[in-house]
Amino acid sequence: RQAYVNGRYTPHNDAAVHIEDRGYQFADGVYEVVPVYNGILVDEEPHLDRLERSLRELQIEMPMSRAAMKLVSRELMRRNNLSRGFVYMQITRGVAPRDHKFPTKPTAPALVMTTRQMKPHSAEALEKGVKVITLRDIRWERCDIKSVSLLPNVLGKQAAAEAGAYEAWQIDDEDNITEGTSANAWIVTDSDTVVTRHANNGILNGITRMALLDLIEKEGFTLEERPFSVEEARAAREAFVTSSSSFVMPVTQIDDKPVGNGHPGLLTMKLRETYIAYMNSLKEA
Ligand code: PMP
Repeated sequence: RQAYVNGRYTPHNDAAVHIEDRGYQFADGVYEVVPVYNGILVDEEPHLDRLERSLRELQIEMPMSRAAMKLVSRELMRRNNLSRGFVYMQITRGVAPRDHKFPTKPTAPALVMTTRQMKPHSAEALEKGVKVITLRDIRWERCDIKSVSLLPNVLGKQAAAEAGAYEAWQIDDEDNITEGTSANAWIVTDSDTVVTRHANNGILNGITRMALLDLIEKEGFTLEERPFSVEEARAAREAFVTSSSSFVMPVTQIDDKPVGNGHPGLLTMKLRETYIAYMNSLKEA
């Protein structure tokens, strides 16, 4: 397996960056995870749009043109024989003597790309659905930036793992659910309305989320993008999460309470099928 590090393809196990990389020192960088399905990069353009936006918000230059990024992704997929998995891209402000403020001498941003094979989703998770726990959202106020500063997300996911849960849903100051630690949160109400929080600085606007919003509209389901409370989530008929790695994953337990009848929701599973059919319909750009 190979990785791409600042202009070179190197064996994954030897791939390294400098100890004074600002990503390592300050988490001063951003990343993207682009799913690969049937050998095709899913929603590559929106992923690169989001990457460029995250970089702009931090005043970091794109390390190379968008066309070059696409070429490197494909070359790395080819070298690693990747047909189902992810391309991971990380860009940091680069290497500079440790000092919090941006370096006065502009640094070359550092780019790392790796790939990872995806395991098929466990049949058990899909049949039974997964559990989520809820906890206070202790993240910062710019969750819309896909920053590598992920410590609160790490702690949340660890708490979930320790509780035997798949995700930790974050609760904001108004007692509304924002999102999971690495996935967006959705519920379905008794009147078959699909609800997910509106995208602002409180959540990362998932590319899967956006693709699914389009599909929901096309299929004519009722949709509301708005805050929803922990109470509303606990009383919801169905719940699920979306992300590049989960696609659409049914949630059947929130903390210690089953969601609906405790089985994956019908609408949820219909949306999962719709999303997978969408991925299967994609052709190489
Ligand atoms: N929220 C957070 C905090 C995330 O880290 C992610 C993805 N890793 C998502 C939502 C889902 O985004 P996407 O659908 O683009 O994977």
